Amino acid sequence: MTAYPHLMQPLPLGHVTLKNRVLMGSMHTGLEERGDWNRVAEFYATRARGGVALMVTGGMAPNREGGVFPGAAGLYTAQDIADHRIVTERVHAAGGLIAMQILHAGRYAYGKDCVSASAIKSPISPFVPRELDEEGIEKQIADIATAAKRAREAGYDGVEVMGSEGYFLNQFLVAHVNHRSDRWGGSDENRMRLPIEVVRRVRAAVGPDFILIYRISLIDLIPTGQTWEQIATLARAIEGAGATILNSGIGWHEARVPTIATSVPRAAFVDLTARLRTEVTIPVIASNRINTPEVAESILSAGNADMVSMARPFLADPDFVAKAASGRAREIAPCIACNQACLDHTFSGKLSSCLVNPRACHEVELEYPATDAPKTIAVVGAGPAGMTAAIVAAQRGHRVMLFEAGAQVGGQLNLARRVPGKEEFNGLVEWFSTMLSVSGVEVRLNTRADVETLRGFDVVVIATGVTPRDPGIPGQERALGYVDVLRGAPVGPRVAVIGAGGIGFDVSEFLVHAGDSPTEHPALWRAEWGVGDPATSAGGLADPAPSAPARQVWLLQRKPEKPGRHLGKTTGWIHRAALAAKGVRMIGGVSYDRIAADGLHVTRDGVPEVIAVDSVILAAGQVPDRALADELIAAGLTPHVIGGADVAAELDAKRAIDQAARLSAQL
Ligand code: NAP
Ligand code: SF4
Repeated sequence: MTAYPHLMQPLPLGHVTLKNRVLMGSMHTGLEERGDWNRVAEFYATRARGGVALMVTGGMAPNREGGVFPGAAGLYTAQDIADHRIVTERVHAAGGLIAMQILHAGRYAYGKDCVSASAIKSPISPFVPRELDEEGIEKQIADIATAAKRAREAGYDGVEVMGSEGYFLNQFLVAHVNHRSDRWGGSDENRMRLPIEVVRRVRAAVGPDFILIYRISLIDLIPTGQTWEQIATLARAIEGAGATILNSGIGWHEARVPTIATSVPRAAFVDLTARLRTEVTIPVIASNRINTPEVAESILSAGNADMVSMARPFLADPDFVAKAASGRAREIAPCIACNQACLDHTFSGKLSSCLVNPRACHEVELEYPATDAPKTIAVVGAGPAGMTAAIVAAQRGHRVMLFEAGAQVGGQLNLARRVPGKEEFNGLVEWFSTMLSVSGVEVRLNTRADVETLRGFDVVVIATGVTPRDPGIPGQERALGYVDVLRGAPVGPRVAVIGAGGIGFDVSEFLVHAGDSPTEHPALWRAEWGVGDPATSAGGLADPAPSAPARQVWLLQRKPEKPGRHLGKTTGWIHRAALAAKGVRMIGGVSYDRIAADGLHVTRDGVPEVIAVDSVILAAGQVPDRALADELIAAGLTPHVIGGADVAAELDAKRAIDQAARLSAQL
């Protein structure tokens, strides 16, 4: 008897029955553009072997003008079809099903040839789109239908037509982007004509025995977005035009409301999917911030959806479904929704991967084969680097002992988990603990390893992490360290934080909140960000009503630039907006003169000033803790040094875990 009966139930879709209720949602990995089709095939086949019922590929452009960026992958030539066939055949051999997403970016296409309903630039693109004429619209429809037909030729089991997130089809639906007065604009009926016609023509191109997923925007989260009545009318028409199943789309990319970041409550938008389910007779898929089998099961058992879509969780763990099905859910590596190695990479032109699973998209080149020469390995420090090194080495068959001076494993992750909006780190620490135990690592807590302890091991890995940097500010003995603050040291009502890196932002977030974390209270979170109901306000926007800050915070840095510029590419704006909503003053170009009883003395633009605060907190970065590594080297040993103990600058868990995994893959 499975713990997740609804999740594991097959879903009949007419000509085909899905083996369970889990869809791997579309993700752009960057693999297709690199042209290594063996690698693309292995990425998807690995996930098919892991038991997911149906996967959707990253978005494929139907034509050059619709590609998200110049050179975006699409199915244009016989060679393209042959390349994609490598993927579909490998997936089918692994027992999976796969649909190709057709993504026309419209005005979000990053190039001067982009097209849309009207020549209105999006706030997140420098390019003004060309307004399509009647002939141009017909070409786009034909290209999308042709892409679907080619997907079938390439062996795909279906297509997903991307109709949400502010892309091309979504653009026609909304009055402020669609100013047309012909049969493609003006009335609701006219604005809906394009997506409906696209679905009708795609269905005609692929025939009845082919899955057609339509991703519909359930809440645009932009001013003058669609109303629920319009969305429901469109959903019924899309069903009538031949869609097999509807997937949920949440928010345009230009929306100023986070929709998938870690601070978004789990399953925050599922009520809208539940409402959609009452409007149509075809199955509907819930999406966004679903990352555990428990959450997925609760959505299905409550009747809120027929299927759940998870995308990033399949980067974190390709075996999500198999583990859930076999009573090993605790072993599922959790996606913490950080975006650090997936979306942040995508938007920097890098290959996607995953912070918790460096093998994601590197399946072919990073492997953890069983060793034929087991060694005794000591790992010192149970932060993300040390725990990963220990787990991977033990999984490969080495005998591993992990030494930790503290009373618990987790290292800096134990600080992150205290920050409101970072609750997902709890699950990550739990997962590491589980995997240490499952893989047979011997963990020695409250144990400070020394040269003598380590001398007898075949291999020593030092992952002793970092210590806070001493900024050398006169009077700093009056200040608190960020570690103490996050562990609960008392802080006054007016606070200056020295250092506006990731930790300065985290500490500030910690300080402005009192009581419940909005991430754990969806109603509170909606109020903070101004998420309303599309049934009562177009686009589903309401006036943000953030709760009063618990403290007045100044967040400072010396660099004369906007604080937070170097935070995550896709999440930095969320951190800045969240603190701005709490009245945090984020100031760059400050030099610190001294800390005194009356506050923090600084100089700004050559002018001395006193920031009158009760507490000053140091978050001025870190330096490597290499003491033990240096002792070992002096004693003639040759330890491997990883994580913050190796290089502290710009260290994050992503780099620590990746470095540790790659080391242990070779021991
Ligand atoms: P950091 O990102 O290196 O920031 C250190 C801050 O301290 C900077 O604002 C720096 O700005 C300031 N600083 C450096 N030297 C100083 C000195 N001598 N005196 C005064 N100020 C000084 O380090 P962090 O905030 O400790 O974060 C560590 C790592 O954890 C980072 O790589 C970060 O990416 C990661 N992290 C990420 C997140 C996330 O949300 N993704 C959250 C937490 C941590 P100035 O030099 O301009 O003053
Ligand atoms: Fe999830 Fe972060 Fe991994 Fe992306 S990098 S899949 S958000 S854990």
